[in-house]
Amino acid sequence: MFRYLSCLIIALFTISAANAVDITALKGGRIIDGNGGAPIVDGVILMDGERIIAVGNEDDINIPTGTKIIDTNGMTVMPGLIDIHVHFDILGHSDYNHWFGKYENRMRSDIMPAAAKAMLMAGVTSVRDLGADVSNIFWLRDQVNSGKIPGPRTFIAGPFLRKTATAFVSDGYKDTWVIESPEDAREKVRKLKEMGADVIKTQDEALSQEELAAIYDEAHKQGLRVASHIYAAEAIRTALKAGIGEYDTIEHIGEYEATAYDDDIVQMILDQKVAMAATIIARDGLRQIIENPELTDDPRWIRDLPADLYADVRKSYREVDLTDHPLYDKASAHRAGRMAKLRQLKEAGAIFTVSTDSGTRANPHHDAMWKEMVLMQEETGMTNMEVLVAATKTNALVMQQQDKIGTLEAGKLADIIIVDGDPLSHLSDMRRVKHVIKGGVLFR
Ligand SMILES: [Zn+2]
Repeated sequence: MFRYLSCLIIALFTISAANAVDITALKGGRIIDGNGGAPIVDGVILMDGERIIAVGNEDDINIPTGTKIIDTNGMTVMPGLIDIHVHFDILGHSDYNHWFGKYENRMRSDIMPAAAKAMLMAGVTSVRDLGADVSNIFWLRDQVNSGKIPGPRTFIAGPFLRKTATAFVSDGYKDTWVIESPEDAREKVRKLKEMGADVIKTQDEALSQEELAAIYDEAHKQGLRVASHIYAAEAIRTALKAGIGEYDTIEHIGEYEATAYDDDIVQMILDQKVAMAATIIARDGLRQIIENPELTDDPRWIRDLPADLYADVRKSYREVDLTDHPLYDKASAHRAGRMAKLRQLKEAGAIFTVSTDSGTRANPHHDAMWKEMVLMQEETGMTNMEVLVAATKTNALVMQQQDKIGTLEAGKLADIIIVDGDPLSHLSDMRRVKHVIKGGVLFR
């Protein structure tokens, strides 16, 4: 009843206060609002400029005369997807040495804009980049967020915080800040905050518990969350003891053959409200392409990338035998253990996000999110609705953007996708994003 009344009040307010010429209605269609409740059949969403002003049923909402109508009948209307783990500087090529050796000077001209476009076209309207060259990624964020390059709302970590630099980039490509000590860690987190980073990324199990504790504590003091790339159970325990906290994320959770985490690890994850980021597609993508090379001919891959880069990425799978690649082995060797551990965490009540690591090997931006959602459902036992909520509302919480995005509600930004299908029956329908609206602007 309250919901009905509030919709009505908003609708009446709309008619009197707003100029109908500026209002757009998404009319018909089933609305999944991101909160996890029953969908609204024959839904209507009114947008005024960049904001949503009403969400409800056709019977509840008056559409002012002169309103522009977008017909969404037969389709699913839901919040734009949020991916909390992407990399704008890679496009799914199988060989990082080759990629960075050849293309570091094409990041701004071609690669990052192509990644941004591919994400947005796939219905991903907000992302968190978890590690790239500092100068390029701050530039990219400002270009996209000021509207100069089409792409999702972009939040960034800047560099990986590690004990050693990454091996495959040149000296001039500053994607790593090496941590020397706990004091150094604090200083670097403060420096990143000053520079305007949105999140801190640790990517090294060699960081000591003291160094991690300094990173977590300083980041939390600065109002930043931390995403930690961790595989081994012992390293997860170290990060938990070091104070990884509420809605910080453990990226790549579930890795390795072991079929359960020790009870103390699960308990700390629950007590500290750490969010689980499984990035399953970053493990399974190579298997999918090796077993079905036709995937590299997907027209969406061709559509989103400059022709020569697409050709080079395709060649890296079509003309190289990758069956002895460690990722291919891991895809099958770790699957049973990962599934068992993810289900253990799910049953215990851990918070789950949807996190793709898109751009990594065989994990192109146009496919990452819908594939990860399907794998999440299969491997964790989450319901389709739970996965949809994780990909929208929960991910907005992780990014500290829950007041602006993540659910379809009056007052929030109009980041909305229209899916040609029914993801509550078949999550793979998320592949068929027909329209993408970001901030009230229709991008496709
Ligand atoms: Zn990553």
